[in-house]
Amino acid sequence: MTDFKKIISHAKEYGFVFPSSEIYDGLSAVYDYAQNGAALKKNIRDYWWKAMVQLHGNIVGIDAAIFMHPTTWKASGHVDAFNDPLIDNKDSKKRYRADVLVEDYCAKIESKIDKEVAKAQKRFGETFDKKQFLATNPRVLGYQEKIDAILKRLGKSLEKEDLQDVKDLIEELEIVCPESGSRNWTDVKQFNLMFGTKLGASADSAMDLYLRPETAQGIFVNFLNVQKTGRMKVPFGIAQTGKAFRNEIVARQFIFRMREFEQMEMQFFVPPGTQKEWYEQWKATRLKWHLSLGMGEKNYRFHNHEKLAHYADAAADIEFKFPFGFKELEGIHSRTDFDLGSHEKYSGKKLQYFDPERNENYVPYVVETSIGLDRMFLAVFSWALREETLDDGSSRTVLKLPSVLAPTKLAVLPLVKKDGLPELAHQIVDSLKWEYATSYDEKDAVGRRYRRQDALGTPFCVTVDHQSLEDNTVTLRDRDTMEQVRVKIDELHHTLDAKLNIKHWLQKIQ
Ligand code: ATP
Repeated sequence: MTDFKKIISHAKEYGFVFPSSEIYDGLSAVYDYAQNGAALKKNIRDYWWKAMVQLHGNIVGIDAAIFMHPTTWKASGHVDAFNDPLIDNKDSKKRYRADVLVEDYCAKIESKIDKEVAKAQKRFGETFDKKQFLATNPRVLGYQEKIDAILKRLGKSLEKEDLQDVKDLIEELEIVCPESGSRNWTDVKQFNLMFGTKLGASADSAMDLYLRPETAQGIFVNFLNVQKTGRMKVPFGIAQTGKAFRNEIVARQFIFRMREFEQMEMQFFVPPGTQKEWYEQWKATRLKWHLSLGMGEKNYRFHNHEKLAHYADAAADIEFKFPFGFKELEGIHSRTDFDLGSHEKYSGKKLQYFDPERNENYVPYVVETSIGLDRMFLAVFSWALREETLDDGSSRTVLKLPSVLAPTKLAVLPLVKKDGLPELAHQIVDSLKWEYATSYDEKDAVGRRYRRQDALGTPFCVTVDHQSLEDNTVTLRDRDTMEQVRVKIDELHHTLDAKLNIKHWLQKIQ
């Protein structure tokens, strides 16, 4: 996998992601999507929306406002409990998430395990049995035991809000500040992640508001409106994509952890008692969605939560192998009737469903799937970016995006800028642009243009040459194999459709 710095610089150089307000030196953990990035992001969002809403007769989509009545956040628990434990280093004056410091420490032990595995793999060659090695090697077992003990203690102290013990743990593990290298820590404190703002002009009538830290609550408060107006029968789902805001203490790793980001969430309302089955079903369905993009089964894993939020009776993350290791990409949570129940209490309005089959009223249970659009962007982008050595010894940079997500599907290139080739190339663009994002490029030698399209992730290039004028054929070049085939202009659409039509991709999920 490509080096992380290379990923960030490629994203900038090729017009995918820019630091926000860069002429003023940027704003920490805020990013702008550029011409190609906005298209890639939109394609990911569409792929999600089609899979979730269009393909499910019982899921509908909404678009709720970012501002919500402030009581929403009391009811959801965010005012009281949406906190991260933070700790400052007195020498560097840097602020850290205390839990992340401990988790990073464990990740270092985990990389020692990986090293042991790599060593043994080399030694035993083909006969190496990784599973058995992990289960029996005393050194590996020792490392794993240590990790488990540390994470268990961290989980317990966070659950009991025993912040002193979190600090004790950091001190006992002799964790140093990555910046100053010192162990001169402050106490651990809770820090609320919501951004506050004000609604209204005059100081005395202004109302304190929050920018939403998740999109889910816009769905819960609209549960009854949607159920009634859409005549929805439980089980059914409501999906939404939109911005969320969190004042993250440690915002780093590019677009992995941002202060303004976008979520794609779906809340699925089910009869009480059936949530476990639905939870398992949604775990499987969401993994299939990821796998349909062809980014390799081995790059995904489930992480089942031991420590559950107070409202959940089961939770798991789908983790992806980012350049900095396996990390959460999507969460699947069985949230019980906590949210609707709590909004009932705070609003005084009934948020119940009459189930004709059970002949009773109840507050539905909720299974949610929640994925960060920006994090998915990073997963796709970092997986796709490759440095390849070619047969002739030269190298190329190629962005092997799943073609259904590529910002531009096709670039049409006249071999030279004369003899009527540009005109024919424009005609081809004009006939295909209705269906595919198609670009035209006539600058530089054709080899350089291919490289430019490779770096942008364009799956196909069509080259128009002198022969095209005679027999109406063009060369179609495949980004991944670099193979070139001669096809009739009339057949281009048919050939491309087999590779690019979103239908063929989505059918893999079912
Ligand atoms: P983390 O543990 O990484 O902070 P979380 O468990 O708080 O994430 P959720 O509240 O479950 O995350 O949000 C659902 C999804 O939203 C996450 O799986 C992630 O993809 C995305 N997400 C959450 N916080 C951010 C952020 N600051 N920047 C980008 N994406 C985010």
